[in-house]
Amino acid sequence: MKPTDITQPDYFHKVVDCQWACPAHTEVPEYIRLIAAGRYSDAYMVNWRSNVFPGILGRTCDRPCEPACRRGRVEEQPVAICRLKRVAADYKADIRHRLPAIPAEKNGKRIALVGAGPASLTVARDLAPMGYECVVFDGDFRSGGMMRSQIPKFRLPDKVIDEECNYVLDLGVEFRGGRPISSLKALLAEGWDAVFVGSGAPRGRELDVPGRKEAAKNIHIGIDWLSSVSFGHISKIGKRVIVLGGGNTAMDCCRSSRRLGGEDVKVIVRSGFEEMKASPWEKEDAMHEDIPILNFLVPKSFTHHSGKLTGVVFEKVKAEYDAKGRRNLVSTGEPDQTIPCDDVLVAVGQENAFPWIERDCGIEFDKWNMPKVDPKTFGSSNPKVFFGGDAAFGPKNIIWAVAHGHDAALSIHKLLSGEDINERPLPEVQISSQKMGIHEWSYDNAVEPDTRHKVPWRDVNQALRNIKVEVELGFDVKTAFKEAQRCLNCDVQTVFTARTCIECDACADGHRVC
Ligand SMILES: Cc1cc2nc3c(=O)[nH]c(=O)nc-3n(C[C@H](O)[C@H](O)[C@H](O)COP(=O)(O)OP(=O)(O)OC[C@H]3O[C@@H](n4cnc5c(N)ncnc54)[C@H](O)[C@@H]3O)c2cc1C
Ligand code: SF4
Ligand code: SF4
Repeated sequence: MKPTDITQPDYFHKVVDCQWACPAHTEVPEYIRLIAAGRYSDAYMVNWRSNVFPGILGRTCDRPCEPACRRGRVEEQPVAICRLKRVAADYKADIRHRLPAIPAEKNGKRIALVGAGPASLTVARDLAPMGYECVVFDGDFRSGGMMRSQIPKFRLPDKVIDEECNYVLDLGVEFRGGRPISSLKALLAEGWDAVFVGSGAPRGRELDVPGRKEAAKNIHIGIDWLSSVSFGHISKIGKRVIVLGGGNTAMDCCRSSRRLGGEDVKVIVRSGFEEMKASPWEKEDAMHEDIPILNFLVPKSFTHHSGKLTGVVFEKVKAEYDAKGRRNLVSTGEPDQTIPCDDVLVAVGQENAFPWIERDCGIEFDKWNMPKVDPKTFGSSNPKVFFGGDAAFGPKNIIWAVAHGHDAALSIHKLLSGEDINERPLPEVQISSQKMGIHEWSYDNAVEPDTRHKVPWRDVNQALRNIKVEVELGFDVKTAFKEAQRCLNCDVQTVFTARTCIECDACADGHRVC
């Protein structure tokens, strides 16, 4: 067998599959061990260092780490990495004394951050303790971005958002809420040393079919409607609701409707069930609340009477694949179907919008009207202006916004220290060694079959009564311990010494070093 090349530090990252798959490279096995040991505050701090919002992400992360988890290769389900993160947040003690101190003296450099979502807050979290003066502007009066305005309170309560956004703002970061930036040129003229644009992708896509204008009063753009619900401007909806779209926004729209008076709520999607963009657990949550998902129906028009919406007409389609395996949706030839309703929520996509960035302030835009952003440095064609989160490459999720924020903060620091922003440090690796005998190795490494534990839900009838009541209850300490024990500790890597080989064959079990 060829010795493994461990000269590149990436090796030690890539073999811990969950950590490599997490955009912020959270040290997953480390915090899971700390949870098993009951050291919740320590587990929280391991998370806070890399992903900044452990309590928020422990409830809402898109969790790309989980499909990568090696436990998923010995049985059906991976370790509940995301929901264990919530355990650290729920059971920790007061950790405020463990956060970085506000520097007594600032370094004289001023950074303006547009938008108070996870991307900007991560940049501020990284730079403020280094002495930078960070000022965050947002059109909204409260910080958090879409974590606050879009994600319904029954998935993410305000108190968790307040706590974790305040950990960042309390590092001496200034938040100017209710202050939309209407001109980048004017902002640049104020003489900031750098500007970070974390303004997200705030525009919901339209569905321009016949009847849209006539029945406009009862047809709502999903993300606008959700933010009106979040900020308390909307508190009810009609009894019969159709949600158009198959992504996570559609799932939040339908579940919110069920809580605001919708009795017959349906999600209607043009694609098949499997191809829907919503995560499997979001679909499961919606169906658990008696919300049917109807597939292969394309909306053709809205029906209305005297300016009041009465229903939606759909064409029935099926998927056909061409020689290259590309999917086309073609009509089945069956008669159109009209589904009556009182309100429609349109959740068919999200777009970027930069009406406040003048096209002559040194920022180049591409043919899709998106700023040209370097995927490594997050710099734009104006050397002082950086982008990150949904504003950089279109809508993604919180953990990607955090990862972008870290990279942009590093670039800003390098720029303002007179260094080349293209020269990035290698990933950090900490190695500590522990000798192990063959018997200890073989006993401790046996993989026990152990299926994933389910996070308990609140009773559905109780949950539907109040839009602010959290549905998931989180693991209790005992179940958390059992779930943590499912982790295979992939960061513990066995290094075999070739000259003491006794042909035990253990080195054949995956990525070993001889
Ligand atoms: C319905 C819905 C549910 C979602 N659920 C999840 C989920 O469960 N998990 C997950 O990981 N992701 C989820 N997302 C995606 C996630 O919220 C975003 O990807 C993430 O918040 C992007 O972070 P950001 O920092 O780039 O920008 P945002 O969070 O969008 O924040 C941008 C901020 O900039 C402000 N702003 C915009 N323009 C200006 C301006 N000109 N001046 C001043 N301020 C401005 C906005 O008011 C906003 O507060 C969801 C998105 C939606 C729409
Ligand atoms: S078993 Fe544990 S360390 Fe290994 S990939 Fe899964 S969560 Fe990560
Ligand atoms: S932040 Fe998200 S992707 Fe990263 S380890 Fe936690 S759950 Fe996984």
